[in-house]
Amino acid sequence: MDARTRRRYRRRLLDELGKNGKLLGRLRQSVSDRGKESATSGVFASHLAERANDEYERESDTVLADAQGRQVHEIEEALRRIEEGIFGVCEACGADIEKRRLEVIPSARFCLRCQERHERHLRN
Ligand SMILES: [Zn+2]
Repeated sequence: MDARTRRRYRRRLLDELGKNGKLLGRLRQSVSDRGKESATSGVFASHLAERANDEYERESDTVLADAQGRQVHEIEEALRRIEEGIFGVCEACGADIEKRRLEVIPSARFCLRCQERHERHLRN
């Protein structure tokens, strides 16, 4: 991969890191706000269904925040690989990751074949 392409990916990853980091902050805030809410209004919540719904929303925010946290981590890792000069190389087989794939997922760690093998492995 030439230096210009690498710089382009670097900018894109930094951009995505900014956006995803902000989203992660909002989600974490929302999780902790809901935590406070249910702690203070728990006694007054008359309907069990309402409380269950709050719990549900809090839980799904937690799940989202986790997924978002992983996403941010993946982007940070990709930036680290750029610094180390190993960006765009499959971590499993060492082959170049397909350009088309990097265009869609710049933080991809595996080439398409290894990714598919990895996912099949997870399913089994
Ligand atoms: Zn591979």
